[in-house]
Amino acid sequence: MTKSKPKPQTQPSAAGKEPFESKKERARKIIALLHKMYPDATCALHHDSALQLLVATILSAQSTDETVNKVTPALFAKYPTAESLAAADPADVEKIIYPTGFFRQKTKSIIGAAKAICERFGCDVPETMDELIELPGVARKTANVLLGTWFQKNEGVVVDTHVGRLAHRLALTWSSKNEKDAVKIEQDLMQVLPRKDWTFTAHALIWHGRRVCTARKPKCAECRLNTLCPAAFTFDGK
Ligand code: SF4
Repeated sequence: MTKSKPKPQTQPSAAGKEPFESKKERARKIIALLHKMYPDATCALHHDSALQLLVATILSAQSTDETVNKVTPALFAKYPTAESLAAADPADVEKIIYPTGFFRQKTKSIIGAAKAICERFGCDVPETMDELIELPGVARKTANVLLGTWFQKNEGVVVDTHVGRLAHRLALTWSSKNEKDAVKIEQDLMQVLPRKDWTFTAHALIWHGRRVCTARKPKCAECRLNTLCPAAFTFDGK
C-alpha cells in the first residue's frame, strides 16, 4: 500500500509528549501490521544449534549476516561442538572468521565462551540472561538473540542498529534520536511492546529496516507503517 500525500500525522518533536497509553496503542497497531508484512520474520544468521547461533551472533558484530553466513559453514564443520571449539587453535579460527572483521577479539570471545560453557555448564549453552551475559563476548543483545530465537523466551528486545533507528523514527522510545545506548532503548521498548511480541518485533523491525526504512533513504511513500509513524515524510537526511 502506498501513500501519495506526504503529510505526516504528527511531528517527531510532538512524539515525545505522546501519552503512554496512546504510544502503547500505536505500538500494538504497528505490530499488527508487521505481522502482516513479515509473517516469517526471523533471525537471518544460519544455525542449527544454540552454540552455532551464539557463535554466529558474536561474529555478526560490526559485520553483516551475509558475511557471517559465508564463514560459519567451515567453522561449524571443523568445530562442531563446544568441546572442539574450546580446544581450537586460535590462529586457525582467526583465519576462518577473518572476513567478519575484528577477528582476533572475536576469536578470543568464541573460544572463551566455548571454554566457559564447558567448564560451567557441562558444554550446554545456558538458557538464562544472567548466565549468558557472564560468557566472554556476550552482552544483552547477543543473549537476547539466543533467548528469543533459540530458546523461545521473551526476556528482552534485541536492539541492533536497525531496531535502534526504527525505535526512534517510530517514536517507540523516549530517548532522543541521537541516543545510542541500546540498553536504554531496549528498556523503553520493553515498556511499550507486549512481552509476547518482543522477539518477533525485533526481527520484523530488522527486516523493515533493511528493506524499507533504510538509514539513508527511508521509503516512506511505500511504507505500510506511514500513518502510524511520527517521522513519516520528515526525513531530513541526517
Ligand atoms: S519508512 Fe518512513 S514511514 Fe516507514 S517507518 Fe521509516 S520513517 Fe516511518
